[in-house]
Order: sequence, then C-alpha cells, then structure tokens
Amino acid sequence: MTLEIETVPCLADNYAFLVHDRKSGATALFDAPEAWPIQRELEKHSWQLTHIFLTHHHADHIDGVAELVAAFHPEVIGAARDSGRLPPLDTAVEPGQIYDMWGRDVHVLDAAGHTSGHVAYHVPRAAAVFTGDSLMALGCGRLFEGTPEQMWATLKRFMALPDDTLICSGHEYTAANGRFAATIEPNNAALAHRIDETARARAVNAATVPSSLALEKATNPFLRAGRAEVKAALGLADASDAQVFAQIRAAKDRF
Ligand code: ZN
Ligand code: FE
Repeated sequence: MTLEIETVPCLADNYAFLVHDRKSGATALFDAPEAWPIQRELEKHSWQLTHIFLTHHHADHIDGVAELVAAFHPEVIGAARDSGRLPPLDTAVEPGQIYDMWGRDVHVLDAAGHTSGHVAYHVPRAAAVFTGDSLMALGCGRLFEGTPEQMWATLKRFMALPDDTLICSGHEYTAANGRFAATIEPNNAALAHRIDETARARAVNAATVPSSLALEKATNPFLRAGRAEVKAALGLADASDAQVFAQIRAAKDRF
C-alpha cells in the first residue's frame, strides 16, 4: 500500500492521524487537537502537511489548526453545515460527497449524533475510516446534540463498510469503555479477550486505536444493539434496534 497511516497521541487522551500518500506526496491530517506532536511527527518523516480534515467542532479536535495552517498552509476541509463553528474552511464538504485528495478518494460520511454536524472520512485505498467522536474503540461518542436515532443511523453507515476497515477514532477510552461493555455482555468471549488485550496494551502505554470494524462488530455494545441475544439479555426482545441502542447509550451515561 502506498498510503501510510501514523497515529499521533495529543493532549491527555486524544488521537490525530496522519495519512501520507507516497505516490502523490499528499499528507493529510485527520483532526488537530494540538499542533506540536503533529509537527514533530511530520518532521520525523520529512512530510509536508497538505490537507487537514476536521470531523467536528469540539476544541479537542480543532485547536491545533491555526498553528498548523500558519506553518504549512494546508487545505482545510470540513462539513459545510458546521462552517460557522469550525476554523475557516478552504473546502466545505457535504455528507455523501467524494473529495478528491490528489487522486485519492475520500468519502464524506454523515456521522451526526455526538454533534449535529459531525462527519467521518472513509479512505478506501487506506482501508481506514476517521470517525472522530462518533464510532470509538468499544464505544461511541456521547449524544451532546444528536438523537439516539441519528447516532444509530451513523453506526449503521459504519457497519456497512468492509470488515477489515481500520477504525481511526479520536480518543483512548477503550479501557473504561470495556468496563461498561462487560456489564452489557458479560458472556461475550471476544469482548473478555479484548478487555484483557486492552489492559496489557495500556500497562505499557500502547495505543488501542485504531481497531478494526470486524473487532468492533464482535465486541462494541453500541454496534450490537440490533442483535437478538443483546436485546433478550436487556429484556428488550421486542424493541427496535434504535430503541435498544438508546437504552445502552443511556446506561453508559449513568455508568
Ligand atoms: Zn467531541
Ligand atoms: Fe473529543
């Protein structure tokens, strides 16, 4: 693959991602929590930042933009519907649109739920989707602005991607998410195994992000709201998938 992905830890528990295309020379950043760790990573590889893609307007995803723009003059891309509260955009995109990044397709996905304007970016040639605070490792973002129905529709869009897609999400929350997930599915062996692996990784300060869609489908309680065994265990056998999702999300908020 001529596309390389680097995970860049930022702030206390955020992740940004750099995607470098050796063929075109494009180097894209997905979310900009703060500038210096990203600049250090760019220097390490001698990469020139050419694009910044923003998932949503929260400070811990955009605060590094101004400094990186001043240093590298990249093109800044974000959701048209959130242009009023994102940093100045060079290109405003709509969900459903395919953005051409120097010959590589970047699919803009509607990822509303955590915020109303949240988008995600799927890069098929990198087999990766950049989900910000929508789908997360063993979790999903809190519903600050959207409805459970919106977030469930967002999660279904992700579930339709190829199983080997890398889920590049915005935070290291996996251990805490696992403690909650175990309360929903105490008998899920794949989940128990993932919780062990997460503990081992975190003990040596290793990142548990990105994960894969296949792993999320097997272990993430929010993606499993439509499963008969999950519905039955929650006493919601006759509820709609979105209603079960809403119950699981509400339980996580109280956890
Ligand atoms: Zn957020
Ligand atoms: Fe965040």
